[in-house]
Amino acid sequence: MGKVAINIATGSLQTEEIIVGIDLGTTNSLIAIVRKDSHQPIALREIDGLTLVPSIVHFGTEGNITVGNAAKELLVAEPERTIYSAKRLMGKSYKDVSDHAGFFAYKVIDDDTDALVKVQVAEKFYSPIELSSYILKELKQRAEHILKTPVNKAVITVPAYFNDSQRQATRDAGRLAGLDVLRIVNEPTAASLAYGMGVKAHEEKTIAVYDLGGGTFDISILKITNGIFEVLSTHGDTYLGGDDMDRALAQHWQKQLGISDGEMKRDKSLTQQLRVTAEEAKKHLSNKDSFEGAINGKAVSVSKTEFNTLILPLVERTITSCKNALRDAGLKAEQIDAIVMVGGSTRVPLVKQSIRDFFGKDLYDQLNPDEVVALGAAVQADILAGNNTEMLLLDVTPLSLGIETMGGLMDVLIPRNSKIPNKAGRQYTTQKDGQGSMRISVYQGERDLVQDNRKLAEFNLTGIPGMPAGMPKVEVSFLVDADGILKVSATELRSGVQQTIDVKPQYGLTDEEVEKMLLDSLTHAKEDIQTRALMEAITEAQQMLDVTEKFLAKHRQDLSPEEISTTLNSMQLLRDAIDIKDKDSVQHATESLNDISRPYAERVMDAALKDAMKGRKVI
Ligand code: AMP
Repeated sequence: MGKVAINIATGSLQTEEIIVGIDLGTTNSLIAIVRKDSHQPIALREIDGLTLVPSIVHFGTEGNITVGNAAKELLVAEPERTIYSAKRLMGKSYKDVSDHAGFFAYKVIDDDTDALVKVQVAEKFYSPIELSSYILKELKQRAEHILKTPVNKAVITVPAYFNDSQRQATRDAGRLAGLDVLRIVNEPTAASLAYGMGVKAHEEKTIAVYDLGGGTFDISILKITNGIFEVLSTHGDTYLGGDDMDRALAQHWQKQLGISDGEMKRDKSLTQQLRVTAEEAKKHLSNKDSFEGAINGKAVSVSKTEFNTLILPLVERTITSCKNALRDAGLKAEQIDAIVMVGGSTRVPLVKQSIRDFFGKDLYDQLNPDEVVALGAAVQADILAGNNTEMLLLDVTPLSLGIETMGGLMDVLIPRNSKIPNKAGRQYTTQKDGQGSMRISVYQGERDLVQDNRKLAEFNLTGIPGMPAGMPKVEVSFLVDADGILKVSATELRSGVQQTIDVKPQYGLTDEEVEKMLLDSLTHAKEDIQTRALMEAITEAQQMLDVTEKFLAKHRQDLSPEEISTTLNSMQLLRDAIDIKDKDSVQHATESLNDISRPYAERVMDAALKDAMKGRKVI
C-alpha cells in the first residue's frame, strides 16, 4: 500500500505523493515538477513570477534566518552575516578551499586541518550542510505553498564531479530540511533528460553538456546507451562564469572613467554600481547591439562588438576545457551527437556562436538555461514515482574504490567508471595466528599504493574467533547505491561476525583533484607496477620468515645445529634484503631460505606422518 498524504490546504486525502526535482545551485536554486495533465516538466513559479531562489542565507541579529532574494539584498550591507556559494564548501576541508579563501566575504573557519569547513556568523558556526538545508527548507516551503500540498520527497542534482562525500553532504542537507532524498542525479544527466534524451530504450547518443553559470563552468561528455548515462569525462573551471564577464566590463568602464583602484576599494557603493550596471549591460546585449547607461551621473556605453572583445579570453578558456574533455573521452568534436546548453551565461550570443562553431552543430538551447537542470530532476522524479516506466537511470563511479591490503597495496573492488548501483565482494584472511580483529581501510583512486590515493574510511572488524593465520574467511563487500554513496561491510564467514559502515569521507575532492589523480595514475603507471612487485615480494618474504620462525620454535629438537645456524643466517639475509627494498634481492633471499628449509621440513613432516600411521596423534 502506498503512503497517504493529507492536503493541509483543503483537508482532503491525497493518494499520490508528489516528488519534486531540485536544482541546488551555487548561485540560484529552483524546484520543478512534471505536470500530471501534460506530462511536461515545469519550474514552480511564485506569485511574483520568479522561479529562481538565490542560494543565499542571511542570519539576523535576532536569530532570524532569511533565504533567497531578501537575503541577496543584504549582501552588501551585511557581508559577514550573508552567506553565498555554500555549495562550493560542500564536503570540503579548509585545506581544500584555502586557495580561494579570498572569494568568500564571510568567515570560513581556518583551523588548518583536514576537518570539514564551517562558516562563522557572530558566535555561531554553521556547516555547509546546514547552510544548504536552509535553502532546501525554503524551496520545500515554496513548493508546498504553490502546490498546496505537503512536499516530503525530492530528487536533488549535483555536479558530475561531486565525490561520495559531497553527494552524502547534499543528501544530509535534504534530510535536515525534512526531505526524503530519493535520488541524487548528476546535473548534466538531468539537463539531457529535460530534452528527453535517454528516455527511449535502445537509444545511443554521445552528448556534450556545456554549463556556464554565474561563477562556475563545467563541460561534461555523456554517453547514453539503453537509458544508462555514463559520464565519459568532465572538465571545467570552478571560478569562471558570468560574474567574470561583468568584472571585465566593469574594469573597462573604470578605466574609461579614470577611477583609481584605491577609489574603488574605498567606495563600495561605486564598485557595486559598476558591477550591477555591467551585468545589466551584458543581459541587454544578449538581445540588442548596444547599451547606454550611467555611473555616478556619468554616461557609459558599450557596443556588442566591444563587449565581445572584452569577454573573448573567457570564452576561449571554456573552449580549451571542451577540447580537454573531448581528449579525455577519446572523441572528436564531430562525434558528439548533441550539445546541451545549461546556465544563465549561455544566453550570451558570443558563447552560443563559439560553441556552435566548435562542435559544428546546432545547440539544444530552446529550454530556459536557468531551469533546464531542475526540469530534468523533475523528469527523474517522475520516473521514480512510477509514471514513466520505460526508463532506468544509471550513472558511473568517477574513481576506483578499494581497500588496503598487505604492503599498503590498493585492492580495487569497484573500478572507475563502473555503472552504479553496483556491488562487489572479495574474500580476505588474517596474517597472524589468533588474530582477533582486522582493519578495513577504504580508499578511492587509481594508484597502486594506497598512500597515493585518498582514504575514505576505516573500521575494525572485531570478534574474529581465534584461528590459525589464513583460516578466517573475511568477506568484504562494497555497495554503491544509486546516489553514488558507498556502504562497506565485512563479515567473517565461519563465525558470522559482521560490521558495516556508510562511508562518510573526511574531506572532498575538487574536479581538478579527480582529474589530477587520474593523470597521476597514468604518469606513474610504470613506477606503480614496480612498487607493487616489490610490495608483493616483501609480503611473501615476511610470510616465509613467519612460517620458518614458527617451525624453528616447534621442531628445534629435530634439526641439526648446522641446519639451525644456516637457517638463522638465511633469515637474516632475507631481513636485510627487505630493509634495502630491492625486489630482486628479496625474491632471491626468499628462494634461498625456502631451499634451505625445504629438505628438513619435509623430513620432519614425513616423520610426523609415520608416527601418525603408527596410530599416534600429530601435534
Ligand atoms: P546561473 O548561475 O546559471 O543562474 O547563471 C547566472 C548567470 O547568468 C549570471 O552571471 C547572469 O548575469 C547570467 N545571465 C542571466 N541572464 C542573462 C542574459 N540574458 N544574458 C547574459 N547573461 C545572463
